[in-house]
Amino acid sequence: MTLRCQPTASHFVNGTPFEDEAGAPFDVIYPATGEVIARLHSATPAVIRAALESARAAQAAWAARTGTERGRVLRRAADIIRVRNRELSILETFDTGKPLQETLVADATSGADALEYFGGLAGSLTGEHIPLGADFVYTVREPLGVCVGIGAWNYPTQIACWKAAPALACGNAMVFKPSETTPLCALWIAEILIEAGAPAGLFNVVQGLGDVGAALATDPGVDKVSLTGSVPTGRKVYAAAAAGLKHVTMELGGKSPLIVFDDADLDDAVGGAILGNFYSSGQVCSNGTRVFVHRRIKEAFLNRLTERLADAVIGDPMDEATSFGPMVSARQMEIVKGFIASGTGEGARLITGGRQIDRPGYFLEPTVFADVTDDMTIAREEIFGPVMSVLDFEEEDEVIARANDTVYGLSAGVFTRDLTRAHRVIGRLQAGSCWINTYNLAPVEAPFGGVKQSGVGRENSRAAIEHYSQLKSVYVAMGKVDAPF
Ligand code: NAD
Repeated sequence: MTLRCQPTASHFVNGTPFEDEAGAPFDVIYPATGEVIARLHSATPAVIRAALESARAAQAAWAARTGTERGRVLRRAADIIRVRNRELSILETFDTGKPLQETLVADATSGADALEYFGGLAGSLTGEHIPLGADFVYTVREPLGVCVGIGAWNYPTQIACWKAAPALACGNAMVFKPSETTPLCALWIAEILIEAGAPAGLFNVVQGLGDVGAALATDPGVDKVSLTGSVPTGRKVYAAAAAGLKHVTMELGGKSPLIVFDDADLDDAVGGAILGNFYSSGQVCSNGTRVFVHRRIKEAFLNRLTERLADAVIGDPMDEATSFGPMVSARQMEIVKGFIASGTGEGARLITGGRQIDRPGYFLEPTVFADVTDDMTIAREEIFGPVMSVLDFEEEDEVIARANDTVYGLSAGVFTRDLTRAHRVIGRLQAGSCWINTYNLAPVEAPFGGVKQSGVGRENSRAAIEHYSQLKSVYVAMGKVDAPF
């Protein structure tokens, strides 16, 4: 592979790569081999200050451009990303270990979709006119100012773009902190935005661990914080933002239900369960990891699932034939192994998988447990790895109550051929992003986000505009002022 993973500098500030070697060094590891592919430095307070100052300086002039002009920059960036999709996908695979077969179609392309979609919307972001007899009110949709984005490690390109695109479309500037586990991709997005015509300072990338995220979230010069991460981190970042009364978007974890009724197309349901548990080696927030299967079809479901899992091509993620890659890190793999041990220990039936694969890197077998009960650890906690729990059910009311019995509420899915049941059940499930007879599709046109502890706010779609802008309301009097004295 000729692609150079080591960037010219750790950060991207004020339109250019930016280094400060005083920051604590950390390694970037290719999950498929365990090799160190880059060494970066955590942002020092000086880097954070430079990034925030350059964002503040760029923002006002950017907001003063017409929406159409802003949108043109975003759409140009989308075009550049599409032209470089293969190189960006290879970098995404180095960063995350996800198979190139996936990254070629799901990462840079999804980022480009977001830039294209919000680029298209930018020119139509307007307020409204509210007639009040002779008087009237008009509203102006204004940017928030400087937004901070903090990313998780599973979709580094997509998360950077899903946050940057609506923020910039609305006239904000952004400082983005990628996950320390996958820090490379966002740097390239920052370069591409400059190439597309974004002013220096509009989109900055600073690296580091939680302490850098915390410094950004508490900085008085920040107007909004958008986090993609776990619920425990979400609690901390939300609290930090609340102290400064900042706007927030929280895209957090889940333990989502996928319900398979006995009239479902069996192969489609098995396909949905595979997509919702094993894509990206199970490291997807919206995964349907509690698969409730009607007791009548349970054994047929498990048999078909086992047959299809035998077709997974596990191996070198850079080989486009590979359909299942490693976990992102040794740490994450050890966490998931702990959950597998708890599944066995608490009495779940291991149907397939369960072991680390004997090769370099962090490969775990796709794992399925059956006879899982609601109280087991693997049914209650987010695993974030390739572990599916299959639970039995018999009645519609029963399965809805059990599906909702969780603090999470990110996603939910239903497989059935009964049209009215599909809508009735989805209507009663407590989740932000739902699917009927498919799973895990997240087009930019649809709002994405969670209810309950899975999140606050929505990404994608027109709904995201509400979270990156605010309304100014202007009352205009056309007559004399009627004062009491
Ligand atoms: P994480 O919560 O450990 O880290 C997320 C980010 O927050 C990282 O960049 C980290 O450095 C930063 N961070 C950590 N502590 C911080 C603090 N105190 N202040 C500010 N920033 C801090 O999550 P992760 O392990 O990187 O990602 C996995 C989690 O993300 C899972 O729970 C998954 O469900 C969730 N996720 C959610 C979505 C979604 O859209 N809802 C998408 C992807 C991942």
